[in-house]
Amino acid sequence: MSRPSRLVVLAGPTAVGKGTVAAAVRERHPEVWISVSATTRAPRPGEVDGVHYHFVSDEEFDRLVAADELLEWATVHRVARYGTPRLPVERALADGRPAMLEIDLQGARQVRRTMPEALFVFLKPPTWDELVRRLVGRGTEDEEQRERRLATAREELAAEDEFDVAVTNHEVHQAAEELVALMTLGHGSAPSERSAAPGGS
Ligand code: 5GP
Repeated sequence: MSRPSRLVVLAGPTAVGKGTVAAAVRERHPEVWISVSATTRAPRPGEVDGVHYHFVSDEEFDRLVAADELLEWATVHRVARYGTPRLPVERALADGRPAMLEIDLQGARQVRRTMPEALFVFLKPPTWDELVRRLVGRGTEDEEQRERRLATAREELAAEDEFDVAVTNHEVHQAAEELVALMTLGHGSAPSERSAAPGGS
């Protein structure tokens, strides 16, 4: 049961903090290789092409899809397309490096089909109320948008059962350390909780 899992796929509901946890792993564990996704969305202030994302045009994204250069891809929040370049993942794995993808649920489901041997980790909020706070806390959405986001979050949380293991994001560094432990120890012996206990938050 306890096998080292080189490729970890990290997914979870919107606003749970996947990006922040991945950034903490990047900062504290340079031995872990983290995939840089291609995206059609525009860079945010401070984001560097080739570091945070490969920022590409719609045409270039079409080409990547047509050439089968993406391991998975999805349209996220109906706004932009995101995908994982296939070759760098294969190289990292061939080099024997622990590797991680931080992607959305649709992408995780695709990787589940093509690389079922990966370890699928669901990042979850400490409680439903905490997720609601992170989702709507900014107060910039109107009532309808808020309802839609909450409905999506409810659906996304229900996906936990599809994953091998769940890590609760109580605090970013604790979650990052649990993830790294899962990569290096294998999930049979990691300190994380198993995905079980519906309503246990
Ligand atoms: P953001 O635009 O805030 O950086 O990311 C938005 C969402 O896109 C996040 O949920 C993130 O996990 C997801 N995402 C980032 N890269 C990829 C990718 O390569 N593939 C998929 N399917 N989703 C991604």
